[in-house]
Amino acid sequence: MTSTTPNHPDQRLWAVLLAAGSGSRLAPSLTAAHGPGARKQYIEFDGAPLFWRSARTLACVQPVQGLVFVFPPADCERMAAQVAELDAAEPLGLPWLVCAGGARRQDSVRLGLAALPTSGQDACTAVLVHDSARPFATAALVRRVAQALAQGELAAIPGLAVTDTIKTVGPDEIVVGTPERAGLRAVQTPQGFRLAPLLAAHQRAQAEAWEVTDDAALMERAGHPVRIVPGEEANVKITTPADLDLLSSPMNGTKSPRTGWGYDVHRTLPSGEDHPQARPFILGGVVIPGGPRVLAHSDGDVLLHALTDALLGIACTGDIGQLFPDTDQTFANMPSAVFVTEALRLVRAAGYRPVHADLTVIAQVPKLGPHKTRMAAQIAQLLELPGDCVNVKATTEEGLGFTGEKRGLKAVAVVTALPD
Ligand code: MG
Repeated sequence: MTSTTPNHPDQRLWAVLLAAGSGSRLAPSLTAAHGPGARKQYIEFDGAPLFWRSARTLACVQPVQGLVFVFPPADCERMAAQVAELDAAEPLGLPWLVCAGGARRQDSVRLGLAALPTSGQDACTAVLVHDSARPFATAALVRRVAQALAQGELAAIPGLAVTDTIKTVGPDEIVVGTPERAGLRAVQTPQGFRLAPLLAAHQRAQAEAWEVTDDAALMERAGHPVRIVPGEEANVKITTPADLDLLSSPMNGTKSPRTGWGYDVHRTLPSGEDHPQARPFILGGVVIPGGPRVLAHSDGDVLLHALTDALLGIACTGDIGQLFPDTDQTFANMPSAVFVTEALRLVRAAGYRPVHADLTVIAQVPKLGPHKTRMAAQIAQLLELPGDCVNVKATTEEGLGFTGEKRGLKAVAVVTALPD
């Protein structure tokens, strides 16, 4: 890639997405988790089968004009229906086809290439071949490969310098050589090719019984130059059961950790006065002796109300007033633990689990120091968290404002949650 002027500005680029593998190294653990016949390309990821992530990445790159999905022959009909369903919900915005793969990867590619449109206006002139087991390839990488083709390369593949020293071994596991590391690259997909030479290379491979593990190897054997473009560290191939953990890592999905924040205030009753909604002073489910009585529809636990709102913040389900309106008699004098438990259920239903909570009570009286540990323990139990993941603080406002004047108290809560 020496020039920045496209030599093939009019190239019509399609992508072949391979989802036909049997994933033999993963099969036992997939069968255990998902039943017989489970395939890694169908593992649920971000609410869709794994291959859909790659389809969306490929489709959002401007030069890509169409997609061919290659599935195991037995699954083709079912998967075509599923792709249609996914495309209706999240349109790819380009034409796509489904075809049946073959026994080996190279057979699946050959069959995928045969499905490409080769005549008329849409005739394809260049192709990207991508493994659906590499769901983390980015649009930037796809663009880089496409650009190399547009600039005249016959074959362009992503590669990374090798950091491990590589040995070649004999059948008895005895090392027979150590290739110079500087000259090695670990290559990935998507691999990009001008269509005509790739088709010819596949035909030769058929005729001459070549066995390869990627398409670039066919081009090499056919004598074509293959250009390396920078690959991506994160573009790993899901191969072993340990790789499956990558899919559940919070940073790899579109789901980020969430922080929920809650705030609540209640009036306290001046001593000597009475009121039908006067409740004992209760914080975090702990009744605290010596405190003023609190005015509330529920049990008036300002700390658990702030906590409930923080949880609802994580679940993105509004606030405590919406869920448990104080006009509803069902909630009269209700223990606030019920609100926390329901909010926690909503957090889990949204696919999150709380990992930490930090809460502060702001009140002039009574002295809360001696009760903080019990409050934290109570809240940890409600959230089903270890005791050292919940912190309760107490402060006054130095005699200022309504808390300082002992007319009320307030609480704030911050909860951190990770995608489940
Ligand atoms: Mg409240």
